[in-house]
This record gives sequence, structure tokens and C-alpha cells, in this order.
Amino acid sequence: MAEEDWGQWDTQTEPTYYPKMTYRNSNNSHKNPDDEFIEIESRLAGIIIGKGGSKIKSIQRESEAHVNIIDSDTYGLKTVKISGNASAKERARQIINNIIDENDPDKIRQKIQQESTAYESTIKPISDNDWEQLMKEQEEYQKKKLAALPPIVKHVYKEHQEVTAMSDEEIEAFRFSKNNIMVKHVNEDNNEPIPKPIVHFYHAFKDYPEILEEIKKQNFETPSPVQCQAWPIIMNGHDLIAIAQTGTGKTLAFLLPAFIHLERQAIPRDKRKGPSILVLAPTRELVLQIENEVNKYSYKGIRAMSIYGGASSGKQKECIRQGVEIVIATPGRLNDFVGSNSIDLTDVTFIILDEADRMLDLGFEPQIRVSLLPVRPDRQTIMTSATWPPGVKRLAKSYTTNPIQVMVGSLDLTTVNTVKQEILFMEDEEKELWLDDFLKNINEDDKVIIFVNKKVTVDQLSADLCMKNYNVESIHGGREQCDREMALESMRDGSVSILIATDVASRGIDIHDITVVINYDFTKDIEEYVHRVGRTGRAGKTGLAITLMSRRDWSKAKELIEVMEKSGQDVPPELHDMAKRFEAKKERERAEGGDRPFRGRGRGGGRGYSSYGGGFRGNNRNNW
Ligand code: AMP
Repeated sequence: MAEEDWGQWDTQTEPTYYPKMTYRNSNNSHKNPDDEFIEIESRLAGIIIGKGGSKIKSIQRESEAHVNIIDSDTYGLKTVKISGNASAKERARQIINNIIDENDPDKIRQKIQQESTAYESTIKPISDNDWEQLMKEQEEYQKKKLAALPPIVKHVYKEHQEVTAMSDEEIEAFRFSKNNIMVKHVNEDNNEPIPKPIVHFYHAFKDYPEILEEIKKQNFETPSPVQCQAWPIIMNGHDLIAIAQTGTGKTLAFLLPAFIHLERQAIPRDKRKGPSILVLAPTRELVLQIENEVNKYSYKGIRAMSIYGGASSGKQKECIRQGVEIVIATPGRLNDFVGSNSIDLTDVTFIILDEADRMLDLGFEPQIRVSLLPVRPDRQTIMTSATWPPGVKRLAKSYTTNPIQVMVGSLDLTTVNTVKQEILFMEDEEKELWLDDFLKNINEDDKVIIFVNKKVTVDQLSADLCMKNYNVESIHGGREQCDREMALESMRDGSVSILIATDVASRGIDIHDITVVINYDFTKDIEEYVHRVGRTGRAGKTGLAITLMSRRDWSKAKELIEVMEKSGQDVPPELHDMAKRFEAKKERERAEGGDRPFRGRGRGGGRGYSSYGGGFRGNNRNNW
């Protein structure tokens, strides 16, 4: 960042009051009496500064005033200092007030409320009888429609003789050697044989030399575990549920069979009314990443496009009108397109619900259900999920038929094995100082992701680091799509080496050369921890993951120990201690209060630490 005087913070003074924003003229004798000051919430400082100082520069350009952010006299606030002639100051004040207005949480809430009220008023209540009638009509319609359609060609595989020759023992040993692939029918009464795994790429694609050629171009050595088992299952025409995370090669596991499937259908490609393959994914980043992956392969001129919120829908609709075979979409945007008849899904014969658990977490189930109504029910369905909770099981029951489940370890510990995991114990207030110290000492070629749990922390931290002259980028669900893409691109091309991110926005981030992951906040659940840690140590490289744990995180200690032990890490004694204290506390609570369920500290932001085990003071970590 260039040396700008808005990069300086003054010192903080005593706390007094917490207005959202106040405006005042300077009456402070050591300051220029012509300067004007606006006090703002700290979180707004980052917004006014903008990425790499871009916003504040444009405010200065537009207003011709000098704008400067300094620490406020009021604790918890920042001050925008405006200098210049009267009209320049007026313009700058106007622009800044507009920014503050746009980011006022009350106004944002009000807008969302207005939008949802407007939407709800368009929904007419439907009685139970009407529902029954509608469902019947829908069923009848589906039956008629299906009878008129050509059957879907799903079986596109012939087992290679080398695979056929493998004995049951050899198959078992092979699955074990490939990250312990586990495979089974979800319906346990199903006794149909499960296709054997393939060992080499040519086992799966010997009849598809163009696909083999494309794989060759990627210089992949061997199929990944999920690919070994998923390819023969999908190409045999089965529905599949793959419990695998990003980084396991799961995208290619469904993509290559999808290419072949698409080509083999009876209706010629140019006669189809819309796409043949539909991929649903939870976030814009993941959608773009899948599109990127598709575009690495060229097979029979197949075209793919992504549709997602936050980008112009007009352009996306135009591309669909021109014709694409594969559509990759977030459920919300697809829902809009289906609702406005901008996409015809009647010729879709293969669907992928990617990262289904995450789509459910994000509340996309209604949109998925509505969007899939026009898709023929006899299509082939693939689902991927990092976990297998009841919600995902329910979705699988609704949308797959006799599925086979492939699991490559519920936690992706293969990547974690290549990462050194360090745990540091500190108070929340100490983290900022530690981070500054750490970042001062990183190497030039290091790339660091700092994970935090809240959007507001992303903004605060990135403003703070910007001020300290670090070249940082940030992504969270509230940032504009183009900014998020730009942030990822700057990390990939190395122009920025520090990224601050929340979990949702970072889902599926595919940057191969991250060297350090910092868990600034501990993850909400342990699977997310594994996922974050797996952002480094990829593509055969080693990585470092540093987790800052505060006493609030003690309920996670036990699971963290398990993950660390499984991935061959040295577990610090403080962590064992923390886990023991937590168990003892639970035990005490059980003894005192019967079966009262334990409520973890941290969610409610509890500040009293008296029940933590006592005795914690300052830097004495013995009680952690
Ligand atoms: P995914 O799990 O789909 O997010 O894939 C992660 C990365 O692994 C992508 O960049 C893929 O191109 C890459 N990949 C996929 N299959 C293989 C393979 N068999 N060997 C090496 N890399 C692969």
C-alpha cells in the first residue's frame, strides 16, 4: 500500500458513548479548525477505505477534499477527517454519509423486510385439498411426459479385463490403500453387486480415447480415491452419493462421466430445448470453480456456463438462449430462472447436487425442490457432501434412486497429513498483536489465509491490516461478486499474499500454493477445521496451520485432539488439559443439575469465566 497519511491511527482514549455516527467540527486546539470530522463505527472504516485504499482514493478524487481516517477520541469508533475548501468538504461529507447510510444495519434490515413482504404478498395460500389435487395432476402430468420421452441411456461402461481379474481380496486391499474407500448401497436390502473400483485411468475410459487424451494433458498420475470408485458406479448408470470434500478430485469424478452421458442420449444435442446436465452448488465461488474445471477439458464441443446471483442475469439468460449443455448454478439464481421461464430443464438427464450439506446449511432446500420440479424423475443423480447428517440423508431419499454411497473418509485427513498443525492459546484481545508479529515475519513467497467466523471481523481485520501496510484481500458472503473474484485472483496470481475469509465464502477455494492457514477464530465445528486446514499442504506441498484458541473454545478441544492424533500431530499438553477441564465441568453440571444439556460458552458471548476451572490469569497457560 502506498504511504498515505490516512494510514495513521491516533492513540485511543477512554470509552464514553457509542453512537452509530456523529458529525462535528473540530474544536481541538492542536487540530486545524477548518477540518471537519465524522465519527463512524469501526466496521465502516474498512468500507470507506475500500480494497487496498481504492474507495477512499475515489472519494478524494470525486470530492477534491482530503479524507483521512484516524482513531476516534471515543472508544470503539473511528473518525473520518475531511480537509479542503468548503464545497470539497461538503461533497466528501455527502459521499461518506451515503456510504454510511447504505451500510446502516437498520436500513438493510428494513429493505430485506420490505422485499420479503412484497414477495410474500404475491403468494396465495393453498388449501390442503388444492394441494392434493395439484400433486395428483403433477403425478399424472409426469407419467404422460415420461411415456413420451425416450429412455435415458445411463449405462456407458464396460469393465476392463484387468479390473475383472481382480479378486475380492485384491479389491479390498486396493480400496484400503486408496485412503480406505468405503462403498455400500444406501438401501441395505439391496444385494446387487457394486461395481469394482478402477486402478488406472484407462480402466474407466478405454472406450473414450478423447477423454483419456484430456486427462493426459492435465499430467495427473493416478485417479484419486473417489474417482477410482465413483467412475465405474456412475458409468454403470447408478445414482451416487459421494462423501468427499473439496480437494479430493470429486468434481472430475462426476464431470467426466457427465460428458459421456451427455453425448450418448437419444435426442441429438442440437434438438434439446435446454441443458442436459445440471450442477447445483452452494456458493458463487464453487460454481465458478466447477465452471473453471469444466473449461479445462474439451470434449465434443460441449459448452458449460454458470449462473449465480450477484452478476448480471441478462447476460446469463442470453448465454442460455444461445444454448449450453452444462449449467452450473446456485439454487437461488436457478430458482429465479425457472420461475421466469428463462431456462428449460425438461431435457436434463443428469443432475449433480454438489456439497449438498452446505446447500442445506445455507437454507437452499426450498429452492432446490422448486428448481428440480421440471426435471424428469428418471434422470441420473449424483450428490456430493462432506458430511452425512440427517438433512442430507433426507435429500438423498427424495432425489436419488437406489444410490450407492462412496466415502473416502468422513474427514479429509489425507491433506491434513501434509500440514503441520500448531495450536496457540491466547485471549481474544491478544490475537491482533500476535497476528501483526506473525505477519511481519512471513517469507516473501508465503501465501496466508486467515479464517474468521464473522463478516464484520473480516472487515475489521482487513481495515486494520491495511492500515498497517499489509497487502491484504478479503472475501465474505456480503462482498460484491466481482470483488470476491478479484480477491481470489489476486491470491492466485500472487499480487496479494494475505487473504481474510469466512467459511461460507471460502468453501471450495482452490488456490494450490497456500503455505499458511491461520484459524484466527476457532471453527464452529470440527469438520470445518479439517476443511480449513486442508486449504494448505496441497498438490504435494507441505503447509502450516496455526489455530488460535481462546478459553471459549474449550468445548472443541476433545474433537480437535482426535483430529490431530489421526493426522499424526503432536498434541500440546494444554489441549489435553483443556479437554479434561471441559469434561470435568460437564460432569459437575450433570451431578448438580440432572440432565440439563450443556450450553457451550461463546454462542451467547458469556463473559464470566468463573466456571472455567478457575485460576486463569494473564499468561499462565497451565490451566488451559
Ligand atoms: P476437487 O476435489 O474437485 O475440488 O479437485 C481439486 C483439484 O484436484 C482440482 O484442481 C483438480 O484439477 C485436481 N485433480 C482432480 N483429479 C485429480 C487427479 N486424479 N490427480 C491429481 N489432481 C487431480
